[in-house]
Amino acid sequence: MSRPLRVRFAPSPTGKLHLGNIRTAVVNWMHARSQGGQFLLRMDDTDTERSTQEYADGIVSDLKWLGLDWDDFARQSDRTDRYDLARDKLIADGRLYPCYETADELALKRKSQLQRGKPPIYDRAALDLSDEQKAAYEAEGRRPHWRFKLVDGDIDWEDLVRGPSHFEAQYLSDPVLIREDGRYLYTLSSVVDDIELDVTDIIRGEDHVANTAVQVQLFEALGGAVPTFGHLPLITDAEGQGLSKRLGSASVEQFKADGIEALAIVAYLAALGTPDAPKVATDVALLADGYDIGRYGRATPKASMDEVLQLNTRIIHALDFDLIADKLPGWDAQLWAALKNNVEQYAQAEEILGMVKGGVRPVIEDAVFIAEAATLLPEAWDQDTWKTWTDAVKEATGRKGKNLFMPLRLAITGQARGPEMATLLPLIDRARVLQRLAV
Ligand code: GLU
Repeated sequence: MSRPLRVRFAPSPTGKLHLGNIRTAVVNWMHARSQGGQFLLRMDDTDTERSTQEYADGIVSDLKWLGLDWDDFARQSDRTDRYDLARDKLIADGRLYPCYETADELALKRKSQLQRGKPPIYDRAALDLSDEQKAAYEAEGRRPHWRFKLVDGDIDWEDLVRGPSHFEAQYLSDPVLIREDGRYLYTLSSVVDDIELDVTDIIRGEDHVANTAVQVQLFEALGGAVPTFGHLPLITDAEGQGLSKRLGSASVEQFKADGIEALAIVAYLAALGTPDAPKVATDVALLADGYDIGRYGRATPKASMDEVLQLNTRIIHALDFDLIADKLPGWDAQLWAALKNNVEQYAQAEEILGMVKGGVRPVIEDAVFIAEAATLLPEAWDQDTWKTWTDAVKEATGRKGKNLFMPLRLAITGQARGPEMATLLPLIDRARVLQRLAV
């Protein structure tokens, strides 16, 4: 029987989430939710020097803001006893061996391999150390780091994104799983957790492909089922130059400050790298409908903040006023419905609202004309007012077209551009309009 689908998002709490890892979270979440599977959040905090609780808390609140909920939570720093057991098993099975080279010695080895035109693969010299040599190193004060012994042969998997994927173990270095100071490295802890937490699908960036090759052997060595893998090409900015500073460092904090809806980020990232346009959905759960991880191509997806902003506009316009009212102080549902098409981003809302309710600075170039127009302002205040009024002003002054409309718009809004005057005018108090027309 196949196992229920279960994915994990496994950030290292060594910094804030950025567009790249938010995308990994989005893709995993969509993959799980579209198939009734589970999404697990795991803090990969084995790097105790760089991981902080503050970053972990930040990740939790960012995911909440994004609307990506999780069914289970784990923290690697709570699970050291499991890694101890895995270590003991691998040692007993002859798959984990102590090495005493210093970083400098290893660098020297690599250099000489490269000079001889050889791939810089660890030479397994430590496997030949006698007990006396090891004791001598220990007596010198050296502590071993531990490497996983790969088994020569093909490593193959069917990648959800890349298709058939192939490595040959003899071209890979035996990975270090435990550091000199006894701390476990992610390569091991991740596999132990993925087995124990029943992760069926591992979806992550393409930068992990070589990790996957060695981890496939680790799953086998630890007696776990090898999960399905999917590796997404890493995103770049529109120029294809890696992530620009603006995009690469864009954090949830920044999105909030820029008035970007979580839905715009999630919808944009779910579609990025597929041939599909992002969906304009009003709920994150709706984005998972019909989601298919097979839609991602292998080409490098180019992310663009302008595209996010355009999508944001469409989403802002589609959302119920109640859901966004807190970002639109002074507005009500009726006003919003009438004028929202003139508001692309929340930051513009205040100026538009000012045209209705605030103290506009009227721009009046021809005071005689405006004074005459003011005397013709209709009493009836509705959708037809603008037409009735401008017809009357045209009749009285002989002005038409731009000469007629622009001075009135400038006097009433202080701006050369803005909402349709026919829509805007009846939303402003008549007395206020008269005030603005008064020279
Ligand atoms: N903590 C790892 C990272 O942030 C997780 C990689 C994985 O998904 O296995 O890169």
